[in-house]
Amino acid sequence: MKIYEKAPAKINLMLDVLYKRPDGFHEVEMVMTMIDLADRLELSEQPRDTIIITSQAGYIPLDEKNLAFQAAKVIKERYDVRKGVHIHLDKKIPVAAGLAGGSSDAAAALRGLNRLWNLNIPQKELLALGAELGSDVPFCVMGGSALATGRGEVLTPVPNPPQCWVILAKPPINVSTAEVYGRLRSESIRQHPSAKDMLSALESGRFLEVCQSLGNVLEEVTLKMHPEVLQLKETMLKLGADGALMSGSGPTVFGLVSKESKVPRIYNGLRGFCKEVYAVRLLT
Ligand code: ATP
Repeated sequence: MKIYEKAPAKINLMLDVLYKRPDGFHEVEMVMTMIDLADRLELSEQPRDTIIITSQAGYIPLDEKNLAFQAAKVIKERYDVRKGVHIHLDKKIPVAAGLAGGSSDAAAALRGLNRLWNLNIPQKELLALGAELGSDVPFCVMGGSALATGRGEVLTPVPNPPQCWVILAKPPINVSTAEVYGRLRSESIRQHPSAKDMLSALESGRFLEVCQSLGNVLEEVTLKMHPEVLQLKETMLKLGADGALMSGSGPTVFGLVSKESKVPRIYNGLRGFCKEVYAVRLLT
């Protein structure tokens, strides 16, 4: 038996860090939504009781460090499943890009194994299992659009943004999420983006209000470390995007565009100096 599961990327429409908690995690406020740029998981039963991960992408771990492996391991242990699985990851989401590719693979593995092994695990339990694997995994299990608080695992569904084009540009640099959070001094953040403004923009369904409410405090760290990310964001706006922001800890920058006729100019303009550019729709 073989099944497929889609693992879409997420973007942060806003990301604020409130303070560093005694447990070392940061207390955050994020509004996230899914985009139609996705990995595809192929899950097939195995005769032997083992977890096998393969991928065409040569640059991700295929052992227990892979988040899809960890998802399979936690499900097997918790529900006492003595069966094996082969998970093939057809990677399309750029890795270490701020788009939660690994987290989404883990979430898709949880959903997929629930189906493959007929476990009937309720959504609430899948969300809790996801939280054990990583802060962004519960959102990826749930999908749609959500306000995420706590360390990112406390979710409240919010209205999807109005449909639009999302143009993404990933510069060829590696950004470590841990390093970005480590360099952030939450007490000296100059300007906090407002979750309240973003939520009222989403409630109103007004596209330009959503664009005006975009904000990410981690830009203060990543843009300073990598000026080319700032340059990419400025170029995106100059080429006509209605709003632009860095996603997560970066380095991917996305632009929101309502008019389809503007997309080729922005896409081609960015391709002039960035190899990895994507134009996709929101997953609403
Ligand atoms: P986030 O936005 O949640 O910080 P990200 O988009 O920045 O995530 P990922 O693509 O999830 O980053 O990858 C981060 C690291 O996780 C990679 O360097 C890789 O070694 C590891 N990793 C583990 N499992 C996977 C997976 N299934 N796909 C991609 N990377 C994975």
